[in-house]
Amino acid sequence: MIVKPAQSSNIKNILEKLNTFNSDPENGTTRVLFTEPEVEARKYIKEEMKKNGLVVREDSIGNIFATLEGTDPDLPPVWTGSHIDTVLKAGMFDGMAGVVAGIEAARLIKESKIPHKRNIEVIVYTSEEPTRFGLSCLGSRAMAGYLSLEQAKRLKDKQGNSLAEVLEGLGYDLSKFDEISFKKGEVFAAVELHIEQGAVLESMGLPIGIVDTISGPTKLEVSVYGKQSHAGGTPMNLRHDAFLACSEIALKVEKLAKKSSSKDTVATVGLVNVIPNASNVISGEVHFSLDIRDSDYEVKHKLIEELKDFTKQLEKSRGVTIKIKQINDDLPTKSDDRIIEILENSCKEKNISYHKMVSGAFHDSMMVGKFAPIAMIFVPSKDGISHNPAEWTDYDDIAKGTDILADGLLKLSND
Ligand SMILES: [Zn+2]
Repeated sequence: MIVKPAQSSNIKNILEKLNTFNSDPENGTTRVLFTEPEVEARKYIKEEMKKNGLVVREDSIGNIFATLEGTDPDLPPVWTGSHIDTVLKAGMFDGMAGVVAGIEAARLIKESKIPHKRNIEVIVYTSEEPTRFGLSCLGSRAMAGYLSLEQAKRLKDKQGNSLAEVLEGLGYDLSKFDEISFKKGEVFAAVELHIEQGAVLESMGLPIGIVDTISGPTKLEVSVYGKQSHAGGTPMNLRHDAFLACSEIALKVEKLAKKSSSKDTVATVGLVNVIPNASNVISGEVHFSLDIRDSDYEVKHKLIEELKDFTKQLEKSRGVTIKIKQINDDLPTKSDDRIIEILENSCKEKNISYHKMVSGAFHDSMMVGKFAPIAMIFVPSKDGISHNPAEWTDYDDIAKGTDILADGLLKLSND
């Protein structure tokens, strides 16, 4: 009895079919939570799960569970899965690769007829992307107990509809919202396959990454208040230019990240709002975002403290006021040593080279990691591109990842 290799043609067919549920096919893939294409994609994926012999159910926030029953179904199950929603003008692999790999892995395990004790469940987590409600990982967040019904009533989309209203409109039973969450011990292990969304594997020429840490992001909103004045009439020594203070902070944060003692520190100023943003006016206000991620929480916080000291000096030297608001601050998520060992052994047994690595992007696994042991399998992203219509991963690489996934799920199921 053996587990046969994954069929890249199966993976290709399902991914291509999924990609037809798309509200903006001219610009890559757009499938936003509970829009018509997303609801249709859910129906399709549930059919595909059933076709492969899985038993499908859904919870009150739309997380989909497809179960391959084990010989001892009362034991805590083994999970795999990812998401099928996207950002606007995205690609066709981010999230979807993990769901399709899960279905293919379950099919291979079922057809191998190798007995497995624990149930194996393929999961589609509701809305990993924050596209509709501004908050990421809605489904897995609720599983971890960090999204209550009260919050679901307060979370609104741009049209003013709350998440709770949208769920209710689609027939989800909100009276069972409390039953979404899991306690520690209720899930034995969870392994998510995902595209890398970076260029590390490609640059190393390796097909598989095994994620040992998911970096914890910290998001800050920084506001600089200077003095708005005339670009012609204000001498250089009398200026309180908010934009220049912002520029100094941006360069400082780059310097701090580059000289960090952790090789995984990354820091980005991604959004800048200059007021009044006119060619002949010295800016009076600038609001900008600061996104800092690291596999080491202490190092990340040391950087933030150094940055705060720097802004205090800057307030004096430039005569500006700087306010820093923390939007979120997440701990890094460590993968489980036992799952890593199993995945590494699977790679070795199959003669597939792999690289142990950090995930800079966050994933549903970060939330699942709050109540279950997790690990992730990465497959290469062409040119490291993601959240972009040009996003690409070779189907053969997803198939290799699926082989490791199937082997790992089977071993975990009998662990
Ligand atoms: Zn994703």
